[in-house]
Amino acid sequence: MDDCIFCKIVAGKISAQIVHQDKSVLAFRDLNPQAPVHILIIPRKHIDQISSMEEADLPLLGDIYGAVKTIALQEGISETGFRVVANNGPDGGQTVGHLHLHLLGGRLMHWPPG
Ligand code: 5GP
Ligand code: ZN
Repeated sequence: MDDCIFCKIVAGKISAQIVHQDKSVLAFRDLNPQAPVHILIIPRKHIDQISSMEEADLPLLGDIYGAVKTIALQEGISETGFRVVANNGPDGGQTVGHLHLHLLGGRLMHWPPG
């Protein structure tokens, strides 16, 4: 997707602080962090959002959650805890149309979310 910010990060056309990558997943620090640790985990493949995933894409969710576990250990928040968020569509507050999970940690998270 030529006009997708996250595809540009995958292609190396926009710089990002990459913290983890493998064959299917890329993870980098959020530009506007909402917690001491705020990392975005994305599939390299462009998929708009969770609700537009096709059956064949579903194994990517396992890869993405595997990355969450690895990165949480790497960032030292595995024991203290963290939150994983996927905003989907307008009511979900999604602003970038390339599927991503937010990994947030390093402070106490509140509930309910805003
Ligand atoms: P959403 O609101 O779609 O769930 O989250 C998009 C996230 O992407 C936001 O937290 C925003 O700060 C982050 N973001 C937007 N553009 C960039 C960028 O160019 N680089 C990085 N590292 N993060 C970005
Ligand atoms: Zn994209």
